[in-house]
Amino acid sequence: MKKVLIVGAGVAGLTAAVRLQYLGYDVTLYEKNNQVGGKMNQIKEEGFCFDVGPTIVMMKDIYEEIFSFCQRNPADYLPMEKVDPMLHLYFSEEPPLSFSSDLTQLMHTLESISEEDAQGYLGFLSDIYKRYLIAKDAFITRSFRSFWDFYNPSSLMAGLKLRTFNDAYSSIVKFVKDERLRKSLAFQTLYIGVSPYQGPSLYTMIPMIELFYGVYFIKGGMYTLAQALERLFKELGGKLYCNTIVDEILIENKQAIGLQIGKETVFGDAIICGADFPYAMTALIPNENDRGKYTDKKIKKMEYSCSCFLMYLGVDKKYDVQALHSIYFAKDFKRNVDQLFEEGTLPDDPSFYIYVPTLMDESLAPSENEAVYILVPVPELSKFSDWSSATIEKYRTQVLNKLKEETIFKDIDEHIVFEKQYTPKDFQTDFNAYNGATFGLKPTLKQSNYYRPHNKFAYADHLYFCGSSTHPGAGVPIVMQSAKLAVEELLKDDQ
Ligand SMILES: Cc1cc2nc3c(=O)[nH]c(=O)nc-3n(C[C@H](O)[C@H](O)[C@H](O)COP(=O)(O)OP(=O)(O)OC[C@H]3O[C@@H](n4cnc5c(N)ncnc54)[C@H](O)[C@@H]3O)c2cc1C
Repeated sequence: MKKVLIVGAGVAGLTAAVRLQYLGYDVTLYEKNNQVGGKMNQIKEEGFCFDVGPTIVMMKDIYEEIFSFCQRNPADYLPMEKVDPMLHLYFSEEPPLSFSSDLTQLMHTLESISEEDAQGYLGFLSDIYKRYLIAKDAFITRSFRSFWDFYNPSSLMAGLKLRTFNDAYSSIVKFVKDERLRKSLAFQTLYIGVSPYQGPSLYTMIPMIELFYGVYFIKGGMYTLAQALERLFKELGGKLYCNTIVDEILIENKQAIGLQIGKETVFGDAIICGADFPYAMTALIPNENDRGKYTDKKIKKMEYSCSCFLMYLGVDKKYDVQALHSIYFAKDFKRNVDQLFEEGTLPDDPSFYIYVPTLMDESLAPSENEAVYILVPVPELSKFSDWSSATIEKYRTQVLNKLKEETIFKDIDEHIVFEKQYTPKDFQTDFNAYNGATFGLKPTLKQSNYYRPHNKFAYADHLYFCGSSTHPGAGVPIVMQSAKLAVEELLKDDQ
């Protein structure tokens, strides 16, 4: 039985570990932290339970596929419930919009704006659906090893058909007139840390995916997935070591041969790295000659997604919460986005996202209490790094003031009984996210598909990468797909 060593038990590392163990490999998974999940982590304190990072479950089929692949019933591991309405959007000076994946409800929302915009919205969905199908077949479900995997007539034709050269916002403008609808279709590029005014227009497929395939909630919150993958891996006989920092991926004569863990050297037939790719290059492969074009200089020059400032609030009061997921747009959204990606300053009037999981699962807080998660997009650390305690305190107050002014949480500061924050620095320290960029390398055209770090390492054999900064990109289902592609690459080499 061949021995595979995996670095990092984030979603990607866990998924790769489960697949390979099921296929008969002898897999050992090493995680630096005391629990699995990586950014999909959990804070469980004083009766409150918070997801640290991801909260929105979309592309449910991909979540379930790993369990079906291992001949398990997904429902035994992931109790899921459909979320409807999927999302409430609030605009400072205009009425809010509620988005449902029920077509009748959706039409009600759209026609309340105008029949012309309802028609435009449906036209947009049809257009992006066609492009999504092309992207799915030609890029998302395929990995790229060599130049010719990408530069061949069918890939190039698919690339042209994608028409992805303009930005998300401009691609929407021609379909709908209402500014709220335009924002509702464009802002979701922030889910993968890229500006809606710059990122490739293809990422407007995110709202389409939410509408067509639904948004779900996993009982217990997103962390249930990390626990389920850990449980399955152990049931299959896999070996997991937490609190174990991998110091180096050992490469000899252009072949990965093992891992250095403190004083111990562990040898394996293949290595899969689920730790953030740019971090892995600079920290785990110290000799630049072993990593081809990925020199320290190149890694530093690459572009990174934005990051997040998070507040996890346990409150001893029940509020009239209307939706599991709500977004509050800044008065000047464009300026807010420019501060994140161009100016590198902390947005003075930020947009923010609120997630209240206790609406779906009361067990996540003591009775008559609420668990409230607030996410504010902020620049990554190479653009803004002053996360001193004074900055945190100031920003916390600013965000709380916005909550009190704009949301139902008018008196929240009087009811906070538990509080914790996460800054980009915490993502860097806790999960080795390069620049604290929560979504990894920014998915610009120059850093996508063939140009994104490959799942099979080009500069050493027996070495594979998965996770947000590799192909196909960030987001839970997409990193699960990257793990599947990394495993398929390993299998190809092991034939
Ligand atoms: C705030 C936030 C909100 C998000 N919201 C959503 C959402 O709603 N929906 C969605 O689909 N996606 C969302 N995402 C994105 C999603 O969470 C990530 O894309 C995904 O979890 C990344 O998984 P990963 O396995 O690639 O990386 P990671 O989770 O970073 O895993 C890497 C693992 O490697 C470990 N590691 C690193 N270095 C070493 C070492 N030297 N030795 C041993 N172990 C090491 C780390 O500790 C970590 O466990 C969100 C992310 C964040 C941060």
